[in-house]
Amino acid sequence: MCREWGVPVFADSYMFPAPGCEQRLDRLSPGEAAEIEYKSLIERFGEGWVPDKKEIPGEGTACMAGKCSFGIDAQGNLRPCALMNEPSVSLKTTSFRAAFDRLVTSLQKPLFPDACRSCQYLSWCRVCPEACLRETGDHSTPPKRLCVQAKALKSCFSEKTVFRIGDFLFDAALPEGLPIPEHFRQFSVEPQETAYHYRIVIEDDLFVPEREPDYRNEDCHVYLRGTREARLLYLHGDTEPYAFCEETGPGTTCITINREKLSRFTLDTVFSSTFSLEKRLFQKESFIFHCTFMSFQGEAILFTGPSGAGKSTQGNLWEKAKGAKVINGDRALLSLPHRGLTAQGFPVCGSSEICLMESLKVRSIIFICQAPENRVESVRPAEAFSLLYPQFTVNRRNREFVKAASDFLEHIVAEIPVFRLFCTISEEAVNVLHEALYGEERRL
Ligand code: SF4
Ligand code: SF4
Repeated sequence: MCREWGVPVFADSYMFPAPGCEQRLDRLSPGEAAEIEYKSLIERFGEGWVPDKKEIPGEGTACMAGKCSFGIDAQGNLRPCALMNEPSVSLKTTSFRAAFDRLVTSLQKPLFPDACRSCQYLSWCRVCPEACLRETGDHSTPPKRLCVQAKALKSCFSEKTVFRIGDFLFDAALPEGLPIPEHFRQFSVEPQETAYHYRIVIEDDLFVPEREPDYRNEDCHVYLRGTREARLLYLHGDTEPYAFCEETGPGTTCITINREKLSRFTLDTVFSSTFSLEKRLFQKESFIFHCTFMSFQGEAILFTGPSGAGKSTQGNLWEKAKGAKVINGDRALLSLPHRGLTAQGFPVCGSSEICLMESLKVRSIIFICQAPENRVESVRPAEAFSLLYPQFTVNRRNREFVKAASDFLEHIVAEIPVFRLFCTISEEAVNVLHEALYGEERRL
């Protein structure tokens, strides 16, 4: 409405809690508040906006409160501002002039946490004496909520790196000190407009919802709010989370990283998990498949099966015996763009350390079973469905996701030959499979 009328407007996304209600209030999260603040700022000043340098006085407020502005409550008490309850002087018994002078004198003391005075995010931050008091109960502790909001807002304006994984194009403002795994870095592309944005913040303590998660497993707690989801991520067997990843708007996620766990972000599994890629990719009709993705004669052969079945061993044997090339030792990104199944590179490759960016039509999928002798069986579609489904990364609590993955797999098993390879670790295993895949073609 204001835009239509040409009226300037500022949307304030920080909501002060009522005294004593800081935990119980259902407020915008700091990431959501930063996103709204960002949109409001770019609407008024454009993308190039930089905040004015902010300074905190040794004593008193940094705003007009108790200097040239004041509030008078319903009981007739004069206060420094509408929100500060203290100091307060009754105007029923004191003249305005004397009451204002008493406010000025009472405010002559340090009202900000010392940590805020030297903080590099101060100019981005909404910190004020009343916010500290209401959020933390005193004037000496920085409010964690505002720390995250300030860092997330700065991240909105920071330089972005653009990545493309399959058809998912996104940008991320990568903070200084965050290790980026080499495999993930390979997927960066030229700067360009993207429809999805990640804000990344590094914090000493994570600011997480003070309630039970809606779903949990050992490595992930999920909190739902309307259609938005937030994930608190744990390393296997660890009690301290390494990141909190929250959808903060349509096309935005705010990732808060626990500073103590930063060194673990060199692992591509840890780094990638914060982007909830499987969720973004299924919306692009692409699915992450657990397999050794191998290139042979210009096509892809995917070796799959449970961990330890020997997928990468068979891939290595094919490299040696037939000159095949492993593209990714642990994952492929699958999609059905037109006709036929396509496998693309993915930035996670487990312990294989083989992670290339290639895109190939899939010739066949091989389910590996260790056995005393080598033989190949063709698998019928219904059985192939149940063999392959567990090898897809699917958010099983998300019905839409489960339905999309099931439909996708039904298409695959109808179109792509699936074989079960009973095998030893030998060149004979390679030859037996090669004959099953290419023998008929050769005879023709
Ligand atoms: S709420 Fe904080 S920033 Fe606003 S007037 Fe009061 S002290 Fe100043
Ligand atoms: S980011 Fe935190 S420490 Fe820094 S000024 Fe704001 S509240 Fe204070």
